[in-house]
Amino acid sequence: MAIDPVEAHRWRERAATVRPDGRAWIDGHPVSAVDGATFDDRSAIDGRVLAAVAAGDGADIDAAVRAARRAYEAGVWSHAPLRERKRVLRRFAELVAANGDELALLETLDVGKPIRESLAVDVPGAARCLEWFAETIDKQYGELAPTDPGSIAMITREPLGVVGAVVPWNYPLIISSWKIAPALAAGNSVVLKPAEQSPLSALVLARLATDAGVPDGVFNVVPGYGPTAGAALGRHPEVDKIAFTGSGEIGRRFLAYAGESNMKAVSLECGGKSPQLVFADAPDLDAAASSVAMGIFYNQGETCNAGSRLLVDARIAEDFTAAVARAGDALVLGDPLDPATAVGALVDRDQFDRVSHYVALGVTEGASIVSGGSRVREDLGGYYFAPTVLAGATNDMRVAREEIFGPVLVSIAFHDEDEAVALANDSDYGLAAGVWTADLRRAHRVAAALRVGTVWVNTFDASDVTTPFGGMKRSGFGRDRSLHALDEYSQLKTTWLDLH
Ligand code: NAD
Repeated sequence: MAIDPVEAHRWRERAATVRPDGRAWIDGHPVSAVDGATFDDRSAIDGRVLAAVAAGDGADIDAAVRAARRAYEAGVWSHAPLRERKRVLRRFAELVAANGDELALLETLDVGKPIRESLAVDVPGAARCLEWFAETIDKQYGELAPTDPGSIAMITREPLGVVGAVVPWNYPLIISSWKIAPALAAGNSVVLKPAEQSPLSALVLARLATDAGVPDGVFNVVPGYGPTAGAALGRHPEVDKIAFTGSGEIGRRFLAYAGESNMKAVSLECGGKSPQLVFADAPDLDAAASSVAMGIFYNQGETCNAGSRLLVDARIAEDFTAAVARAGDALVLGDPLDPATAVGALVDRDQFDRVSHYVALGVTEGASIVSGGSRVREDLGGYYFAPTVLAGATNDMRVAREEIFGPVLVSIAFHDEDEAVALANDSDYGLAAGVWTADLRRAHRVAAALRVGTVWVNTFDASDVTTPFGGMKRSGFGRDRSLHALDEYSQLKTTWLDLH
């Protein structure tokens, strides 16, 4: 992208004057926390305080869940005419697109991601997701079971009731929309708890939903910390389902909360250590190297399905790993508000400490730093980390097994296809994988053998609302996106009629 200093200036000016409203959104209105508590929401870009955000706790979650339950029982949404529900959800999608600049700015300030990505990917992705699920509302049919003559057994779908959505900080808009769009389309009420690092875009979403005509109480947003607001939602007896995206450690807690409370349904999307399997016969190794670099360095590596493990044919390992490092070095790293920037800031100091710790650990374990490895651009005030490639790793190293969640690629050599597949599957995670080969039979063989939710062949991170997304093994269970996501937010009812 050509550098446009005027555009960068314009975004910086807007960023300097933006005054986000940090109040929770409950029952159709902005409200302070019951006890008046707030927390400072800081920008990832330079650490400045963006807003005093309501620190929701048990009482606030309870108020939101009660509002959601009241709205659900009243049927204002759950029993609204389908065309009306569709019209409102479509309007919601339009308002998200129309307010794209505001949403993109808040997303970039909160997360540190480049403004060009927020504008080109996050906002349109959220709008399209809402629009797509709106369109499903009047296109879902029930079933008739093949019973013997004399009976009719109808199988219909019903909403679950009150859905609690708990999301991480890395893609607040996109991941929230993956949950609220199918949940609302299916007729549920929703209480969304955004991550404490990036709550602002969710609060705007709530306002836009109300503006679009979503009835009061149907969509609520309560910001707050995980152990307080998050746990209160997970344990609430009137919540029928938790849709969670975040770390495996917290995902386990939501399973426990459900067991300790009302056996609410739970779906979990819990991260990954996604392998990129690069065979020597890949159609275009230069293009593959660029794509592998983007697969890990996009969004500063803070992506659940980041291709963070490079498994590469030993015959080309050194050259290919060097090419990926060069592609990473060539990415423009800097102020996320500059549209020329491709790699922005890590979300906060904690994340920087985590990434630094893992890079040092990798060296101690015997890997070598090919590129990056340290903090850069301290002048900007935030935590910027150079795209980093660690070579000569083995799959038993902690840097190859644990999710770093930063711009760090670990390169491991393999000697044949069987070993490549075995290494790829030798992981607790199973979210996604990339396969690079010109051999069609190998592509099918390897894709079938990988225990992951998504396999990309000769591409990486291609995605659309039409395809399911989620993981196997400890990456969780349940799927976001596609018609299958509606299964996560509805339940089946059998009605058997005797005709004798
Ligand atoms: P996290 O698990 O720390 O937090 C996720 C959410 O849970 C936040 O809203 C947080 O406030 C809440 N939470 C934290 N502690 C809690 C507790 N004790 N009780 C209840 N709620 C609690 O994750 P994160 O650091 O925000 O995000 C990074 C993680 O998310 C990574 O592991 C990443 O891979 C994962 N992730 C997964 C996907 C996916 O689709 N599989 C997508 C994005 C991120």
